[in-house]
Amino acid sequence: MDTKKLSFKTRAIHAGSEPDPTTGSHVAPIYRTSTFVMKNVEEAIAAGYGDTEGKYYAYTRYGNPTVHAVQRKIAALENAEACLMAASGMGAITTALLAVLSAGDHIVAADTVYGGTFGFIKNILPRFGIEATTISTIGNNVENIRKAMKPNTKIVYVESPCNPTLAITDIKKAAEIAHDGGALLYVDNTFATPYLQQPLSLGADIVLHSTTKYLNGHGDLVGGAIVGSKKLVHKMDADFMKWMGGIMSPTDAASLSKGIQTLGIRMDVHCSNARKVAEFLDNHHMVEKVLYPGLKSHPGHELAKKQMKDFGGMMSFNVRGGFEAGKILMDSVKLFSLATSLGNVDSLIQHSASMSHASMSKEDREAVGIADGQVRLSIGIEEVEEIIQDLDQALNHVENKLNL
Ligand code: PLP
Repeated sequence: MDTKKLSFKTRAIHAGSEPDPTTGSHVAPIYRTSTFVMKNVEEAIAAGYGDTEGKYYAYTRYGNPTVHAVQRKIAALENAEACLMAASGMGAITTALLAVLSAGDHIVAADTVYGGTFGFIKNILPRFGIEATTISTIGNNVENIRKAMKPNTKIVYVESPCNPTLAITDIKKAAEIAHDGGALLYVDNTFATPYLQQPLSLGADIVLHSTTKYLNGHGDLVGGAIVGSKKLVHKMDADFMKWMGGIMSPTDAASLSKGIQTLGIRMDVHCSNARKVAEFLDNHHMVEKVLYPGLKSHPGHELAKKQMKDFGGMMSFNVRGGFEAGKILMDSVKLFSLATSLGNVDSLIQHSASMSHASMSKEDREAVGIADGQVRLSIGIEEVEEIIQDLDQALNHVENKLNL
């Protein structure tokens, strides 16, 4: 079935979830195999050991029907030609960067990105002779990209909304500037998901996902995706992923496919719950500042409204009393789990400075607004009143304990 004209929610269910062509099994079986038996040498030659379209299969590191099915699903949701799965979000990001960059090249990256991405770009790429410049790209700072670009700039890398400050980068402008200078624009779309934002339609060349998060939604696997044109993505597969070997397993691909089928309905509830939680926190006397793009007070609110369908389920906030207060709060919640990661059906709370962004120096964190006392929430799809009650009792506990 051609799913291109179907709505997002219908596409999420049907694209890449076709019945098994050999048995008719309604839910395709998981192809849990490392290798594939060839009918004859002619077929082995035709398999080519590099065919990403999956006409023939030879070896799971080169391609597997279950992994290809989830690739088709994600490509359909991002309105892209191609998708390549990786063993983790970082696996997708590092593969997409290393497949394009060579010694002597330059990359311009936003300083507001996931801590692991920031560390890789700033500390690891220079070890291979790749120069990196990190700058603020949020709001009007998007013009900083132009100033930072050099004749050898191959990639401009941004994340929007970014982890954990929820700052917004103008993707359309970033793409125009990157292309003016002859570079590709990469966008990490993990926080927004293709349901809320489609960077390729705004001009991006490559979209990256930690599928560990909202796409899977249930916190039971780690995975990543690279999405873009056939030309770029197939090159990343053939020239790099096959030899680096950080592929997604067929078992994880099958779980992920199932998770993605409910992405649209989950995101609707994540967004409406988060909006109510953000309003509650914004009006609470124990909260100094709430970072949520859905609040009018957020500096990226208008831009988020323009390039996103809704504002997502993530937020950060600074509690009165600094780190000490944040520690008490995180130890006092009952419904929330104190855990890094995000995008699960259940609500998670974490301390960004010591958890998701521990690989950044304190100086780099402070420069992008990650205060030591800042707490990040991934709002789940539980009954919103119960989420709010949990935060309320934890905030009251902080107030009593610190006599504020
Ligand atoms: N991108 C973003 C925005 C993230 O939040 C994360 C992880 O938290 C990653 C990428 C890395 O993904 P993974 O943990 O699946 O490697």
